[in-house]
Amino acid sequence: MPQQIVLRACANLYKNTEQAPEEYTKLLTKAQQACNSAYAPYSNFYVGAALLLENGEIITGTNQENAAYPSGLCAERTAIYWVGANYPNVLIKAIAVSARHAGENNFLGVSPCGSCRQALLEYENKQKKPIKMILEHAEGILVFDCIADLLPLQFSDKNIEKP
Ligand SMILES: [Zn+2]
Repeated sequence: MPQQIVLRACANLYKNTEQAPEEYTKLLTKAQQACNSAYAPYSNFYVGAALLLENGEIITGTNQENAAYPSGLCAERTAIYWVGANYPNVLIKAIAVSARHAGENNFLGVSPCGSCRQALLEYENKQKKPIKMILEHAEGILVFDCIADLLPLQFSDKNIEKP
């Protein structure tokens, strides 16, 4: 009989914006505002990401779609790749993600796709400091302490090292 193991992600749930630290709610608001500049003529699903850097700057990204669908890119990766290119040595403290449908004002609880989790994990491992993840949730605001928590059994540079 094999032993069953449990792989799970733990997050802190703040029931409302008053409970959550201002740093998180401010970042989430920036992610929501970023949705306005999404380029999503095909899905009409606007996603915004906001990254808080250690120097206090907030960098945003939005989903960028393309008529050749696979050529588009998610909001989280447009933001983190921009940071990687322009602030290669500045630590990333947190990322917030939000989304809404075109023409609607209510924001939705979304979490990053698998590819974005993998990309975010690369930067977390590179900087050797956790990046908090702040997400909308039906019951409030979810805060994960690190990207690795969102990607159990991660694939990383360690997997491709020669023994
Ligand atoms: Zn993604």
